[in-house]
Amino acid sequence: MPVHIKAHSDRCIGAGQCARILPALFDQNDATGTVTVLDATVEPATPTLIAKLAEVRDACPVAAIDIATAQEETP
Ligand code: SF4
Repeated sequence: MPVHIKAHSDRCIGAGQCARILPALFDQNDATGTVTVLDATVEPATPTLIAKLAEVRDACPVAAIDIATAQEETP
């Protein structure tokens, strides 16, 4: 099951929680400090990774990280 990651860099305040929690998937722009998603689609996404992504989403102080699994995308 793939998981899609979207970061709203316009909302990002460069707090760095995402890159600290999951540096394999999130980085910060050297100049602006805003978030960069290193891999917008991860497949297969293990339950461990999905839990970690949820932690990132919940830790972001401005709710700039969205994650969606294929399951959530189907009506
Ligand atoms: S945790 Fe949120 S505010 Fe902080 S760098 Fe990541 S996206 Fe930006």
